[in-house]
Amino acid sequence: MRALVWHGDTRIDLEDLPAPPLATGEVVLEVELAGICGSDMHPYRGHPGPRHPPLILGHEVVGSVADRPGRFTVFPLVTCGRCRRCLAEEENLCERRHLLGLDLPGVFATQVAVREDALLPIPDGLDSRIAVLVEPLAASLSAWRVDGIAAGDSVLVVGGGPIGLLAVYLCAQRGARVVCAEPVAERRVLAERFGASEVLAETSAVRPEQADFAIDAVGVEQTWRAAIGGVRPGGTVALVGLGQAEGVMPAADLVRRGVTVRGHYAYTRADFEEALGFLAETPPPLDWLTVMGLSEGAEGFRRLVEEPNSVTKVLLATR
Ligand SMILES: [Zn+2]
Ligand SMILES: [Zn+2]
Repeated sequence: MRALVWHGDTRIDLEDLPAPPLATGEVVLEVELAGICGSDMHPYRGHPGPRHPPLILGHEVVGSVADRPGRFTVFPLVTCGRCRRCLAEEENLCERRHLLGLDLPGVFATQVAVREDALLPIPDGLDSRIAVLVEPLAASLSAWRVDGIAAGDSVLVVGGGPIGLLAVYLCAQRGARVVCAEPVAERRVLAERFGASEVLAETSAVRPEQADFAIDAVGVEQTWRAAIGGVRPGGTVALVGLGQAEGVMPAADLVRRGVTVRGHYAYTRADFEEALGFLAETPPPLDWLTVMGLSEGAEGFRRLVEEPNSVTKVLLATR
């Protein structure tokens, strides 16, 4: 198979590798399309976290399996099913979880080994470029569920990258009033098209206490502050983006105004299935997606970092 292998820093090479070995319960997914996620950019930007090179990155995928009809996407978390969090249907917080492209070989390859029970059939007629968005969409759908956001609520989305834009789209489609703060002009235009009723060019423009909920899809000190300051007393901030590992938070403001700040990691299997159904029923626009070949993957990473006004979401096609 061919695979994009991350070798540390910004070094990503296309390599010929043996076919992936299969463990019990696994099948080979022939990758058709894979999405570059903000979290794939972390090691490229010098924040590898638990990733160790050499590693095939990527966890957003659409593909096919030999001798089976149709296309599949993959629930990318591998969970134990037995720990307390798994038994409480919070398997995203499984004590023994693994993730494709993090501590398991990822999907930026022509083939990847996945657990058979992680396969989700893609509804007929759903464009693969939309289906591959199920993973970033599931992140905000899960935050919506856990926070208890409802139609009629106001939501401040901080950041208009793919996760932020899909959060805008989901919240607007579900009847929330959405404000999005994003510095890149091209992405603010997208946020409006995706249903934001107001867009702000700077986090400093966020009006105090303007929203019931905030979703921080960036996750640095500046956006934490904007999200916290932007929710009403008793409001809730979900940290979905993880741009900065540690930093200062306005604790006095949190206490005095009774604001909840909650970290949000991934999604449950049920969230993932619901996200796929949502995309099939209400597909977002296609024209903001940039499809490149797997062999152009390194260039895709470079453009996302250096030219965020020219490219928002890159999908890598194997054929
Ligand atoms: Zn992702
Ligand atoms: Zn578990």
